[in-house]
Amino acid sequence: MNGISGKVALVTGGASGIGRATAMRFAEEGASVAVVDVAEDGGVQTVQSIRDMGGEAAFYKADVSSEADWTKLVADVVDDFGSIDCFHNNAGIEGDQAPLIAQTEDNWNRVIDINLKGVFFGLKHVIPQMQTQGGGAIVNTSSVAGLVGYENIAPYVASKHGVVGLTRTAALEHATENIRVNSVNPGVVDTPMVQRFVGDDPEARKAFEATEPVGRFADPEEIASAVVFLCSDDASFVTGYPLAVDGGMVAR
Ligand code: NAD
Repeated sequence: MNGISGKVALVTGGASGIGRATAMRFAEEGASVAVVDVAEDGGVQTVQSIRDMGGEAAFYKADVSSEADWTKLVADVVDDFGSIDCFHNNAGIEGDQAPLIAQTEDNWNRVIDINLKGVFFGLKHVIPQMQTQGGGAIVNTSSVAGLVGYENIAPYVASKHGVVGLTRTAALEHATENIRVNSVNPGVVDTPMVQRFVGDDPEARKAFEATEPVGRFADPEEIASAVVFLCSDDASFVTGYPLAVDGGMVAR
């Protein structure tokens, strides 16, 4: 893809799943990658895999729901790599499953803190750096649950709709500053998150797969290619857009 080689990419949630696949894809396209996560072992593994294929990467331990962590993270990455050109604002959790009227305040706070406040802090702290350096491209991870409702995961659905709202607002506020902001809205992706969500029962997995019009889950790499495309110069006129990468789910 055009305009990724030689750039610096920051990926949150880079220790696992979609974030790890995106970090790897950025490195394959020739970017240096700052891998960010609360999970140190997985983050270090992602960095090692990038270095094994001859790429450049470093791990940063940070909790996206902590503003103090964001202040330190952006300063450290800019010290080490000089800029943040591409930003995948991706870390998230699924939270507990229960009908809305049985959801707890604790689960609401946990999900909103990480999935929504975390994305807000990421935008708030990375955009000023992009302004300083004259531009950049951001992809927030929302979900098909940011475009339509789903039973039993109300806090998650609310957080992912919120991410679409933040994406549109940030895109408008920075449209003339060479800063593009989009979201990727994945369908069901075969990652540890979905493995936790579905559990071990093969029948439950089959039933969940059937919710995808294409009849299968996405591989994390299929989401990563959309993220890197949106960060590339090939998407130079795309901003403020929630891109469903969902095997047709929202077409139903
Ligand atoms: P995953 O659980 O495999 O990876 C999520 C990563 O985020 C983990 O490494 C975890 O340690 C990290 N993380 C969690 N809380 C954090 C925090 N406070 N600070 C920093 N890092 C933190 O899940 P995934 O499926 O790769 O999910 C990635 C993103 O994609 C999430 O935002 C998720 O909501 C979204 N998503 C996933 C699917 C899917 O089907 N898997 C579908 C739509 C959207």
